[in-house]
Amino acid sequence: MGSGRKRRFMTRFDPFFQSALDDLSRRQVRRSLSPVGREGPVVVRRDGARLLNFSSNDYLGLSWHPALRRRAAEWTDRFGTGSGASRLVTGTSTQHLSVEDKLARFKGTEAALLLASGWQANAAVLPALFRLSAEQTGAPAVVFTDRLNHASLHHGCMAAGIRQIRFAHNDIDHLQRLLEQRRAEPGLRFIVTESVFSMDGDRADVAALRALAHRHDAFLYLDEAHATGVLGPGGRGLSVAAGGVDLTMGTFSKALGGFGAYIAGSRALCDWLTSTCSGFIYTTALPPGVLGAIDAALDLVPSLDDERRRLAGLGDRVRSAVAALGLSTGASSTQIVPVMVGESGAALALAQALAARGIVGTAIRPPTVPAGGARIRLALSAAHGDDMIDSLLHALGAAVKDLGLGV
Ligand code: PMP
Repeated sequence: MGSGRKRRFMTRFDPFFQSALDDLSRRQVRRSLSPVGREGPVVVRRDGARLLNFSSNDYLGLSWHPALRRRAAEWTDRFGTGSGASRLVTGTSTQHLSVEDKLARFKGTEAALLLASGWQANAAVLPALFRLSAEQTGAPAVVFTDRLNHASLHHGCMAAGIRQIRFAHNDIDHLQRLLEQRRAEPGLRFIVTESVFSMDGDRADVAALRALAHRHDAFLYLDEAHATGVLGPGGRGLSVAAGGVDLTMGTFSKALGGFGAYIAGSRALCDWLTSTCSGFIYTTALPPGVLGAIDAALDLVPSLDDERRRLAGLGDRVRSAVAALGLSTGASSTQIVPVMVGESGAALALAQALAARGIVGTAIRPPTVPAGGARIRLALSAAHGDDMIDSLLHALGAAVKDLGLGV
């Protein structure tokens, strides 16, 4: 504005939106979109500048892989751009069923279900599961959640109206004490957590969680969004490495280079969700092109051990370099490497300084992470060449020095 002219609004509700936006701006939590042009799995163009992208979840670079692009195009050509209906109406094609079979084999489970997105899977499947407790036991579900769980897992709990019993992040002893304290409650018990945490890049001890869940007769719900394709035998996730859990949720939007999500578990679980989970029932089935990319990714991913080894090596290299600058990477042990700076202002300044040096490293601030935990979240990809990692570390070293961060 600034012209002195009175602001004109399109609808009579806009003054409310504007006042709320002004409040967000005052509190420095207003968010905005900045478009990028993708020029490859890890290169983007923003405001005319070519930048190396360390803020994408395309961990294996598969979103540009010729096999995925070819099958997405082929299936679009053969079957059209949309599936036309929801799964229980006429949206289920033989391709949906064959991809679900392939997924179940990938995860070593009896069955699997496709869902529209990871967010939707968590937001919709958790409330369905918690309802089972009320229906089968007459008592509300007793739900134990990791304090750092993703927003979509919180949303699922909130949508179900249950009170979460939160355990300290990745603290199995704390979880065990809480399970013991709540032993007498009659509802079905659920442990809801992630195998790799999206903002910290640390891992849950899935074998210990599995054993604890068995001992306390609790259902283990594991979000493998950031582990699928990357960790476990053949990239099958940490649930497979641990011998299987009651339910794994994962996405195709990250290491699998596409879009959509899955639930893998028993046949009884998947059949029951097919009849009761509104986020599965009342949405249009995944379109053929998206399904084609998923199908090709599932064929490819088990054979990518070299890429997974390379990715693990990049994580080690970046963690050592950040430590040498005197900054912490927390408990990271995966392809997600947070560079901890503490305050939001410092994280924003570091992100800007990196961008000026040709690097996208997004600042993650509270409330997405706990207060005082602002950071640059670096997400590495097997598609990052060694020269790109050199550029990242060079830019980071210079920016940290200029800003007086680190030691
Ligand atoms: N779970 C976790 C742990 C995530 O990090 C994300 C994505 N940020 C999701 C679920 C949602 O997945 P999608 O992007 O496929 O909706």
